[in-house]
Amino acid sequence: MDASDLGNDLTQVLLDEAAIDTKVRELAAQIDADYAGKDLLLVGVLKGALMVMADLSRAMSGPVEMDWMAVSSYGAGTKSSGVVRIMKDLDRDITGRHVLVVEDILDSGLTLSWLLRNLRSRGPASVEVCTFLRKPDALKVQVEPRYVGYDIPNEFVVGYGLDYAEKYRNLRVVGTLAPHVYS
Ligand code: 5GP
Ligand code: MG
Ligand code: MG
Repeated sequence: MDASDLGNDLTQVLLDEAAIDTKVRELAAQIDADYAGKDLLLVGVLKGALMVMADLSRAMSGPVEMDWMAVSSYGAGTKSSGVVRIMKDLDRDITGRHVLVVEDILDSGLTLSWLLRNLRSRGPASVEVCTFLRKPDALKVQVEPRYVGYDIPNEFVVGYGLDYAEKYRNLRVVGTLAPHVYS
């Protein structure tokens, strides 16, 4: 789905397809270089990370393993509750593994800091984070991702995997949702 399919649901396109593609390739090259010679496990956080995981992993040069977790912290609303539940856990043990968590967006950081504590308690060789988007002004807890795509303003965005009430994930761009859609 393109921005033009949405009428006035978007107030602004923050990242177009070219901006997304360029950044994904940059991140993939850095990750390739940093993990050269290491066996890497990408852990995507469902569902938001599905697009960045698909693009990032295909832009990488080595064979990587992928696994997925689903955690819930938002319900259907637009604010993080900080109460995290695992809806789907990893399929495999990560003891001794190099884990790179792939996230769509780092907002308050509540979900990710919880997830990192959880993963680190399982005895991996390393755990780092690649988040495609970050809202620096929304951070409530300290989370330092090793890889960040774009810093964006503290507004609710949709597209490229990010939803509002499960919709808009298939939008090719990242945009800010018009308040009339959710208020
Ligand atoms: P956090 O716990 O860091 O506040 O946010 C965790 C999750 O909330 C993100 O991984 C993402 O799925 C969702 N989220 C945070 N900000 C936004 C946003 O601006 N738009 C959408 N669609 N989801 C968001
Ligand atoms: Mg996410
Ligand atoms: Mg969501």
